[in-house]
Formats: sequence, structure tokens, C-alpha cells
Amino acid sequence: MPEDLYDVAIIGCGPAGLQAAIHAAGKKAKVIVFGKPRNSGLYKAHIANFCCSEKLISGKEMLEGGRKQAESFDAVFLEEDIIETKNENNLFSLTTESGATFASRTLILSIGVARKKLRVKGEKKLVGRGVSYCVDCDANFYRGLDVAVVGNESAAATGALTLLSYARTVYLICRKLTITDTLYEQLKNSHVRVIQDTWVKEVIGTNEVEGVLLKNSETLKVNGIFVELGAKGALELAANLGVVFYQETVSFVETNKKQETNIRGLYAAGDITGQPWQIAKAVGEGCVAGIEAAEYAKKLAES
Ligand SMILES: Cc1cc2nc3c(=O)[nH]c(=O)nc-3n(C[C@H](O)[C@H](O)[C@H](O)COP(=O)(O)OP(=O)(O)OC[C@H]3O[C@@H](n4cnc5c(N)ncnc54)[C@H](O)[C@@H]3O)c2cc1C
Repeated sequence: MPEDLYDVAIIGCGPAGLQAAIHAAGKKAKVIVFGKPRNSGLYKAHIANFCCSEKLISGKEMLEGGRKQAESFDAVFLEEDIIETKNENNLFSLTTESGATFASRTLILSIGVARKKLRVKGEKKLVGRGVSYCVDCDANFYRGLDVAVVGNESAAATGALTLLSYARTVYLICRKLTITDTLYEQLKNSHVRVIQDTWVKEVIGTNEVEGVLLKNSETLKVNGIFVELGAKGALELAANLGVVFYQETVSFVETNKKQETNIRGLYAAGDITGQPWQIAKAVGEGCVAGIEAAEYAKKLAES
């Protein structure tokens, strides 16, 4: 057995990974967590809808608090990315970007998803100041205001319909909609203003979004733009381990109710298992994964 063998290794220190660490370490498992908090989708966000936090709390505060909680149960943190994972002889081996290697009886993947970006002028600068990648998270901030959604698929169409309950005007900017007939009918019968055959060229604004410039040279005055282009998973790591993905999306890791994947000892939790991309789901799944992994590691150690 390697000298520094862990019971539970967790890749990702967003809400799913942190909650998993708290529960696994709380069960006296030897836990190590890898990742950089700054890279969590939550780091720059303000959270409006998480249970029992009535006031807006900052994502940074939440992530720092979660780490302190996990450390109080003796979980160890390493602010490095994992670049390689292997599963041999009932052990997971992990290599960090600096070349260090670690071994663990179980592994929890909580690596989140990266929202696809528009990659246009003004977008990066105004993230969190009018540019959003999550209608469910941010719709409430746009009550009575004007917003645009950009995207061609059902996420964009349903996002636009959801926003109708909050915003004064909702534009849907798309090249060509590829959605179901039902959704198309819903859009047609709604007040969403669909602008087809064009795309966003630039997000306009100094300190916050003031409008969008379209490729057809039209300018829309809006207070917010929701980019609904789907997600890129950090999936190479998972694929290398032979993990099964959900067939419809091929980008989310399939788990059962114990957060187990098809590989023994390998669990997944949070955004990487699919929508809704919400903290409440991430911490719920993290809790289950942490408990299950700790118990399975204990059985392995005793066998
Ligand atoms: C702007 C914004 C606002 C939001 N607002 C809300 C809100 O109000 N309410 C709400 O419920 N949700 C909100 N969300 C969604 C919420 O942030 C996510 O659902 C949640 O963070 C998912 O948690 P996670 O742990 O699965 O993934 P993440 O928080 O994304 O964490 C994944 C972690 O994995 C790490 N990682 C990835 N690859 C590797 C690797 N190879 N090695 C090591 N580490 C790795 C990353 O660095 C990151 O720290 C918001 C998201 C954004 C972007």
C-alpha cells in the first residue's frame, strides 16, 4: 500500500466537492480535495436562492467557509488541478499539474461544467454585471427590465419563456432555432421577441450591460444578456476512467441515487451529473457521495 493512501479523494472544490469533503471527513475518512476555488462557477457569483440564506451571499464567502468547515474535520486541500487519473488494483491514482501523485481507495468527481461562452467583445468584462449563464439563478435580478437571451436550442427557448415572468422585454437572439414543435408553439404564442438569422457581435457597457450589438448591425438596449449555449464538461478525466455518460447529452456523468458511477469506488456529484446547475443540487449530491465513498473505503480497508 502507498504510504500516503487516502480513503476519499475529491477532484473539485466547488459546493459539491466541499460538501462531500465535510461528510466524508465527518465519518473519519482520510480525505484530500484538489482544485482551485477561483475556478468554481460560484466564485464571482452572488447567491440569491439557496435555502436559509435570506440575504445575498457571495460565492467566494461560501467557498471559503466550506473549506474551513471541511478542514475542521481534518480534510486536506491542495490547490492544484489533476491532469491524469488511473484506476488500477482497486486504487485510484491521481497526478497533479506539478507532477505529484496521490493514491486513494475511492474518488469523487465534482469538477463542475464550463459554460460555453460567446467569445465576443465586452462579454468577459461584464460577467456578473449583466452577462449571465444561468436563467434559474439570475432571472430575479431583472424584474421589470429588458433582457436578451442568446442561443439556438431548447435551453435558450425555455430560458426566454422563464424570463417573461420577470423581465419587461425578452429578446431571443438565434441563428436558427432547433427546438421541438411544442416549444416553438409556446414561443410563438408568447411575448418573446425572436430575432433570427443573426448573432451577438458585441456586449455594450462600461460598468454594466447597456445593450448588445448584433451582426445585422441592429443595437438592442438591454440590461442583461443570458448566454444559453449549453456546457462543456471537464470530461476527459472522467472518460479516461471509463465512466458512462448520459446518452442524451453525452456530457454528463451517469450516477445512481448513491452517486455511484459504473466504476466501483468512483462517485460523481454536482453540475457534472447534469441540470439543474444549482448549489442546492450540488451540495445534496456531494453529501450523498461523501457518505457513500467514506463507507465504501472503510469496507475496502477492512477486507
Ligand atoms: C455567475 C453564476 C451565478 C450563479 N448563481 C447561482 C445562484 O444564485 N444559485 C445557485 O444555486 N446556483 C448558482 N450558480 C450555479 C452554481 O454556481 C453551480 O451549480 C455550483 O457551483 C456547482 O457546484 P459544483 O461543485 O458541481 O461545481 P463548481 O462550483 O463549478 O466547482 C467545480 C470545481 O472543480 C474544479 N476542477 C475542475 N477540473 C478540475 C481538475 N482537473 N482538477 C482539480 N479541480 C478541478 C474547478 O476548479 C472548481 O473549483 C451560479 C453560477 C454562475 C456561473
